Amino acid sequence: MSKTFLSIIAPTYNEAEGITAFLEQTQQVLETLNKPYEILVIDDGSTDMTVNTIKSYMKSHENIRLIVFSRNYGHEIALTAGLEYAQGEYVVQMDSDLQHPPEYIPELLNKIQQGYDVVYAARESRAEESWLKRTTAKLFYAIARQMTGFSVPDNATNFRIMSQQVVRSFRELKENNRHMLMLFAYIGFKTTSIPVQIQERAAGKTKYNYRKLINLAIDSIVSFSHRPLRYMSILSVLVSVVLAFYAGFVLLQKLFSHQQLAEGMASIICITSGLFAILFLFLAVISEYIGRILIESKNRPLYYIREDSYHNQHKNNYD
Ligand code: UDP
Ligand code: MG
Repeated sequence: MSKTFLSIIAPTYNEAEGITAFLEQTQQVLETLNKPYEILVIDDGSTDMTVNTIKSYMKSHENIRLIVFSRNYGHEIALTAGLEYAQGEYVVQMDSDLQHPPEYIPELLNKIQQGYDVVYAARESRAEESWLKRTTAKLFYAIARQMTGFSVPDNATNFRIMSQQVVRSFRELKENNRHMLMLFAYIGFKTTSIPVQIQERAAGKTKYNYRKLINLAIDSIVSFSHRPLRYMSILSVLVSVVLAFYAGFVLLQKLFSHQQLAEGMASIICITSGLFAILFLFLAVISEYIGRILIESKNRPLYYIREDSYHNQHKNNYD
């Protein structure tokens, strides 16, 4: 068997109506490349006829591999599973609802062969989305950039091509909370984009409701950064200092001033402010530790290497 040149990863969840058209159109494009390819369809626990539809398509078509999840795990996990299995020298991730037009695959391939590691499809506009979705998406990326310090582009989609080297790097990220766009920002590599006109859904309806989107947004910010915790700990220290000063002020006033508070007030203020000052200081310390635990628990690789001259020489001499 010849080595796979191109792998397509397509997660699918209740797409029975549109999946055949997706497979047909994608294969049509891939056949024109004249290179060995595979389409990995990851069924994310569909409850409709998706799996049967794909199986009957596979009876008369080759180069398709179907992986069926035991239940619905979510789009991001399905994309991750695809990366575990993809063999190709180049690997494409795309949706299976024809919003990501397969006609762009040759262009993505062409671009990455000019010396890039990742090429993503940048949406030309968000015209196909509602005003609310456009606005919340923009807001999310602005907050995400601020909170994580990574430059996450706000026109990127989950339609992209990458080299096998990037796929291998990606497999080392074992964390549970995943957001592809943020993980790609994290791993780096030489990245560029091509403009793509994202289409309306060919059939069926979106699986992303606002509850899922909000969850994804919170998960991705929290799992990417301990800046929110850092902000909290700075605020806690400030509050603690103010409270400590106030307790001290009331105490001095009680001892040395003629202007007296009502009987018993001074001790109540000193005790509550003093205790709160200590409490906020503890909070600051604890949130610093939690931030460290968050980072360490992910066990991410410390760095990724794009090129290694020794390795390249070695390859040239002996391969
Ligand atoms: N999808 C999935 N699991 C899910 C939700 C969606 O595998 O839990 C797939 C879906 O079949 C589609 C892609 O992920 O191919 C993108 O989902 P969708 O089109 O619903 O999202 P939208 O394009 O509206 O953002
Ligand atoms: Mg879609």
